[in-house]
Amino acid sequence: MPLVILAACERSKTVSSAPEVQASKAQLDALPPELSTFLDEIISNTADEDRVTIKSAGSAEEVVDHMGAGMALRNGELNRYDSKVRKLLVRSGLFHRDDMSGIILLSAARRVRGEPIKFNEQVAEYRNIWAEEDKIAPTDVTCPLCKQEMEIRGPGHPPEPGWVKNYFQGECPSGHYFWYYHTDGWRTAEEVEATFGEPESGANRRSTASKNSDSTPAGGTP
Ligand SMILES: [Zn+2]
Repeated sequence: MPLVILAACERSKTVSSAPEVQASKAQLDALPPELSTFLDEIISNTADEDRVTIKSAGSAEEVVDHMGAGMALRNGELNRYDSKVRKLLVRSGLFHRDDMSGIILLSAARRVRGEPIKFNEQVAEYRNIWAEEDKIAPTDVTCPLCKQEMEIRGPGHPPEPGWVKNYFQGECPSGHYFWYYHTDGWRTAEEVEATFGEPESGANRRSTASKNSDSTPAGGTP
């Protein structure tokens, strides 16, 4: 009996290990459809001679260094609140426009060159850099109250003295506000302040329902 079970376990291990390896490789190369579509648009708008230059460069990274398109991306697509690709990059845990445009350009160059885009690796690279400054953006951007997708602002613009962490702010279309710190998750202003002890009397506290227009959305113009 135990032998049979062992044999079965062995067999199932062998059977399941092969697809697992394939899945993780596929995952490494997987590209979210929003980004894939956007890359196609960029590439279709790239002149033939530029494509030749991109293909003949020493590396995709080298191409990006010489592309002026980053500026146009930062001032165009990445500034549009309704941009699907910007929303995707925010959901992936990015907040800085330079990071977003860097990923788009490198991905476009890699696609032209027929190289793996390695989107998840690129995202992780930028997030690791920001993590050193304790600025770790949320990847769950659904409103805890109504489940709509939130607009993300920040990090590091706490509304009151004492908000010492690098909080990100989320606002859903219904105007619900939440604050995010990576070890705490999403919290209301009241929940954050409760962790400080008693709020100062007369302090101008921002409630979850209040309007705040003094910060810009992730990837937006500061
Ligand atoms: Zn909401």
